[in-house]
Amino acid sequence: MTTTTRTTADWQALDAAHFLHPFTDFQALAKKGSRIIERGENVYLWDTDGHRLFDAMSGLWCVNVGYGQQALIDAATAQMTKLPFYNSFFQTTTPPAVELAELLAEVTPPQFKHVFFAGSGSEGNDTVIRMVRRYWDLKGQPERQVILSRWNGYHGSTMAGASLGGMKYMHAQGGLPIPGIDHIDQPHWLEHGAGMTRDEFGLKAAGWLEQKILEVGPDKVAAFIGEPVQGAGGVIVPPATYWPEIQRICDQYGILLVSDEVITGFGRTGNWFGCETMGTRPDLMTFAKGVTSGYVPLGGVMVGERVAKVLIEQGGEFEHGYTYSGHPVACAVALANIRLMREQRLVERVRDETGPRLAAVFESLRDHPLVGETQSCGLMAALQLVRAKDGTDGRGTPFDPALEVGMVCRGHCFGNGLVMRAVGDRMIIAPPLVMTVEQVDELAGLIRLCLDLTLADLQ
Ligand code: PLP
Repeated sequence: MTTTTRTTADWQALDAAHFLHPFTDFQALAKKGSRIIERGENVYLWDTDGHRLFDAMSGLWCVNVGYGQQALIDAATAQMTKLPFYNSFFQTTTPPAVELAELLAEVTPPQFKHVFFAGSGSEGNDTVIRMVRRYWDLKGQPERQVILSRWNGYHGSTMAGASLGGMKYMHAQGGLPIPGIDHIDQPHWLEHGAGMTRDEFGLKAAGWLEQKILEVGPDKVAAFIGEPVQGAGGVIVPPATYWPEIQRICDQYGILLVSDEVITGFGRTGNWFGCETMGTRPDLMTFAKGVTSGYVPLGGVMVGERVAKVLIEQGGEFEHGYTYSGHPVACAVALANIRLMREQRLVERVRDETGPRLAAVFESLRDHPLVGETQSCGLMAALQLVRAKDGTDGRGTPFDPALEVGMVCRGHCFGNGLVMRAVGDRMIIAPPLVMTVEQVDELAGLIRLCLDLTLADLQ
């Protein structure tokens, strides 16, 4: 059978028979069948039944320039034709990898002049652990091994990435975290900030880092890693006081600060990188996803001069690397992607036009009976579904988790042409950065419709 003659049911049967999907209950998938996405254009997707979906999640937080960008397709084709692969081990390289390294040094904050390439965000974070420990070895402080991160943070799915992450359900499978990683609570005002203003809570939450450093021993802590805005954890935008205080604490104890920019990098928050929005000066920065808009896999770590200088001048050989570090096709696509972002002024558009519009739209959704807290930062946003809006601080009364109201809402979204994600009862979006102000309004209409349908189900 050729692919063109297969029906949706054919695809679903084949899929269930052979494909073990990531983050999926295999039995549930076999019962319900997958949604088969076949085509994309701009911010829209089409499934194999011809239904159009507004992709408010940019694939998986990555298709920042939207689907169907010819410049990226052409860059991949040209590079594949010329040289589909060569490695960057053992003193070789390729022109696209060198040019991308140069361009990344240009678009990232000034402390970054060097990059280490990987194939994904998880590989980037594995690299972070090895690099940070190598740095402290070279500095004559090998006892600085411990890396601190946050509960409900997400840093990937490899053994090291999942360990850095604070998803307890991931730790429960595979005996994680690996040694030398410790967690503090997340800066989530709804969960931990009752009775405090957001700013008061931000300082308190940052203080948990200092407490943990003192508990572990300041001379044993190598680095702190965090997402500027937690993505997979539910688009949790920390209070404005949080990150500056984290920076102060890292500085005070000489600890390396790592910004995991896999989601927040490349314009998502209205600046090129989330650390710029949050006002930190990280020593290392993990990136992936938006660097190629997800068209091909690429990740890596931007290495600040504090670390790069030591690695380069004192390090000798760094015994680490991936076959696909600096993959020439991925780098060529990344170059085209970043150039397109500049040409179309996507970061400025998020900062000045679509981001503020999305913020206004999410604020206006607070009049809906189901909506408690809303948060947004650039083109990522969340709304909390609540049973009642009591109280004056906007937190409301949560639903019984057993009702899975978030999943009910998500079902209505899919049924009505909208891809939106549910993290418990928190509905989240991260739409493509190419979206127009008119498309923000279109998205708002779809969200309101799905909220109304969810409310009707509950009555
Ligand atoms: N870090 C963050 C903040 C992420 O959101 C993700 C993926 O969603 C990762 C790391 C892992 O990236 P990858 O799935 O490319 O390994």
